[in-house]
Amino acid sequence: MKIFIGSIWTETNTFSPLPTGYSAYQDVYLVHGGKHPPERLASAEPAQVFRRRALERGWQVIDSLHASAEAGGKTTRHVYESFREELLNDLRAALPVAMVFLPLHGAMVADGYDDCEGDLIARVRALVGQAALIGVQLDPHCHLSPAMVAGSSIIVMEKEYPHTDFAERAEDVFRLMEWTSQGRITPVMRVYDCRMIGVYQTTRQPMRDLVDRIRSLEQQAPTLSISIAHGFPWGDVPDMGTKVLVIADRDADHAAATARAVGRDLFALRHELIPQYLTVEQAMEAVQQALITRTDKPIVLADVTDNSGGGAPGDATHLLRAIFAAGFAGVLFGGLYDPQAVTIAHTAGPGARLEMRIGGKLGRASGTPLDVDAEIRWIGEAQQHFGVGEHRLHVPMGTAALIRAGGVDILLISRRKQVYSTDLFECAGVDPRTYRLVALKSSQHFYAAFAPLAQQVLYCAPPGALQLDFTSLPYQNIDRRKFPLLADPFTE
Ligand SMILES: [Zn+2]
Repeated sequence: MKIFIGSIWTETNTFSPLPTGYSAYQDVYLVHGGKHPPERLASAEPAQVFRRRALERGWQVIDSLHASAEAGGKTTRHVYESFREELLNDLRAALPVAMVFLPLHGAMVADGYDDCEGDLIARVRALVGQAALIGVQLDPHCHLSPAMVAGSSIIVMEKEYPHTDFAERAEDVFRLMEWTSQGRITPVMRVYDCRMIGVYQTTRQPMRDLVDRIRSLEQQAPTLSISIAHGFPWGDVPDMGTKVLVIADRDADHAAATARAVGRDLFALRHELIPQYLTVEQAMEAVQQALITRTDKPIVLADVTDNSGGGAPGDATHLLRAIFAAGFAGVLFGGLYDPQAVTIAHTAGPGARLEMRIGGKLGRASGTPLDVDAEIRWIGEAQQHFGVGEHRLHVPMGTAALIRAGGVDILLISRRKQVYSTDLFECAGVDPRTYRLVALKSSQHFYAAFAPLAQQVLYCAPPGALQLDFTSLPYQNIDRRKFPLLADPFTE
């Protein structure tokens, strides 16, 4: 059996001022002809799981392009089209194939393409024909479109946010594809549109219970798989929104009824699901209070609206400015995206004291730069890991610098990436556990690594690119019949 694997992966914030070009893919992951590096890198994990399983069975694997960029603004038309043609050309050369595996994000938008994944899947389907199986793994922050569903045989999404289950879900796709190829199952997919916009952390209730429940529902035949497409609120495209996708064996009515039942449960929880984020003022007050009561472990404070993982610039200064003003001692802050400041710090070298202008450069959402008297504490190459335990994946971060300014240790980074793990700070020679407050740029992916060391995790939403008041986002292309734009979109 011959199988084909390829991937073009990014999440597009259509409100972001930063275009995503070739270098954004080069910076994160860009591999031609399946020539993966030996390290286990996050961006290639599903492909590598699938490949490993296929090789174990003695199947022939044709591996093509794998291109991943950090979330940002729209990918340029030329870059998307050239990646797509490279993948399709490799596929054409490999034909006939029995299976195609496409690990994709599902919220990629390029100039001229509102639904890159739907476009890619349809073109792959046109080449391989109806008899071949196309398995797709999507990020739950996808815009699950009719084109994606129509072109695929199997779609499975990560269930957890933070996404700690990339590998497990790749195993799911592989298993369902193998069973289908053996004639053991005939998968049918149905989607229920919940008509909601939201951000759903699976580490807290009521989402935790819902995810656990769909895991047990999956064990009940003829259900094969249940995925919740959270949707990505910062993608202003027609298919944006929360949906439930169910795969059942042969029984389309069962798939549709299950999707509807799970979707209605989710809709019923819509008010409870709204995460409670603190304003900057509330966060400073909460930190102050927490510092009085407990000092043995740090408070971890997430700067959620400037998460570059959601396409934000990563250089916003709103929260750091407030921390300076509050005058807290023992603060670690990072990573602040400022490649120019990193270069200056590297030129000056460790121990140097100099005046620096940091952050606040990339757009209105970033606020204004901070002028500080800085001491360079460390310069070097940074790295971190995504996930914990055996699924820990390496994330190179390029050059970075740790400076001390206004009593705060600030990690400046030159690669626009959210904080996933403590080793991002540890490689700069500091241990987050020894600080009283650790403020970091991430919405939720930090949680798995930082929650265990924190006395308390606080989520703060300063004014920023990932505006959380969805009613005030300047949508022009979405279907607006959605909560919270409407109180009840099914009756209004
Ligand atoms: Zn995601």
